[in-house]
Amino acid sequence: MVPRVIAIDGPAGSGKSTVSRAVAERLGLEYLDTGAMYRGVAFAVLERGIDPGDTNAVAELARLIPLEVTGSVCVVDGVDATVAIRGPQVTVAVSTVAANPEVRAEMVTRQRAWVIERGGGVVEGRDIGSVVFPDAELKIYLTASPEVRADRRASETQGADTGAVAADIRRRDDADSTREASPLVEAAGAVVVDTSGLTVDQAADVIEEMLG
Ligand code: C5P
Repeated sequence: MVPRVIAIDGPAGSGKSTVSRAVAERLGLEYLDTGAMYRGVAFAVLERGIDPGDTNAVAELARLIPLEVTGSVCVVDGVDATVAIRGPQVTVAVSTVAANPEVRAEMVTRQRAWVIERGGGVVEGRDIGSVVFPDAELKIYLTASPEVRADRRASETQGADTGAVAADIRRRDDADSTREASPLVEAAGAVVVDTSGLTVDQAADVIEEMLG
């Protein structure tokens, strides 16, 4: 049987994780946050004192590191890194780690294996519809206005300054969209959904309707 894959891509703060989780629940599928995988590699890189820009050392670590992402829980080499992967150090290092083509090749292999093991899933990230699962049943590109995205991310972090969060989102958008290896793009055949004025449930409704 062909695995049932729903690919959801988009920039930081577009609502990818919450909407993907809601869609997965409605469809009775599992959900994979591929951003947490890249964050998990960045966490391991920092833990071991490796320079995120050391292409070969980072690629080797990415190939070897045991990484389990289950829902919102991320375990890196047996250590629960769920909280640490959302911290500022990992958030800064992850763009460099994710721009490494060998890291991407390894993560893509693991993402495809994850889907095959489960017979499908809702997979969210930056390159899911364009590279990882170009033949997905449905490809969604989620977006939202810069203000809404910054507000969402700021409200997730206690004491966060919205201006600083907005600057961090701009930095990551720029790094993710201009890198050479699998940049963030609207995949061919992807449907753009702007979540600025939508609740999570409304966004999930829109996606569910597309599946008929
Ligand atoms: O989704 P999230 O914001 O947690 O992703 C963290 C980072 O991981 C992104 O800024 C991007 O650099 C990288 N990423 C990626 N490809 C994916 C998912 C995330 O390059 N499929």
